[in-house]
Amino acid sequence: MEIPFRTAVRGGKVTIQVPVTEDCPSCRGSGAAPGATVTTCPECQGKGTVTFGAGSFGVTRPCPMCGGKGKVPSEPCATCAGNGQVRRQRAVNVTVPAGVDTGSKIRLAGQGDRGAGGGPPGDLVLTFRVEPDSFFTRDGLDVECTIHVNLAQAVLGSKVKVRTVDGQFVVLKVPPGTQPGRRFRIKGMGVEKSGRRGDQFVKVQVDVPDTLDEPARKEFEEFAAAAGMRH
Ligand SMILES: [Zn+2]
Ligand SMILES: [Zn+2]
Repeated sequence: MEIPFRTAVRGGKVTIQVPVTEDCPSCRGSGAAPGATVTTCPECQGKGTVTFGAGSFGVTRPCPMCGGKGKVPSEPCATCAGNGQVRRQRAVNVTVPAGVDTGSKIRLAGQGDRGAGGGPPGDLVLTFRVEPDSFFTRDGLDVECTIHVNLAQAVLGSKVKVRTVDGQFVVLKVPPGTQPGRRFRIKGMGVEKSGRRGDQFVKVQVDVPDTLDEPARKEFEEFAAAAGMRH
């Protein structure tokens, strides 16, 4: 099942539709139309199985006439065509544990399809696929994000608010002279799972102004000349 990035990180509840086989509600699983008489299957004499071949080469199969039930109705149920079973989507509420990742599996006991021949239901095994997030990427318990700073912030230094996976904000100190692409680590702000917590890595992208008006361009040229920046 696909789950949002936030749900995978923090955990939460998600409802999914699971296809299951159930007794037909019209005939309660008998396969007979209302008022129809039910008689022993003439094909298998009520055994529910038929054997092809002979001796040790014999192969036993469910009886094709009664579908293994051993009984046949005089008129089949219209809802299930005499099958006695219908396929239905069942809503299952899933509690997603915090910290799951793509490929993580959980097993919900007894939430699977019914067993053959009226046996107990099986388990429902779910494999998660985590939807990508617009801000965070994930590497195990660590998360990474990219923030944008302007040229002045990179050159002179700044303090920048950065969102965490908890939806909180931490203040990141960008020191003077920060190079584009530099990664900062915010310790302990990654994904928490089973008492362990990863880190948040913040990559800095420096935005260069794409246009300057004439006075600003002139001032920048003067600055470049004074700083010895050849261009
Ligand atoms: Zn039916
Ligand atoms: Zn039969």
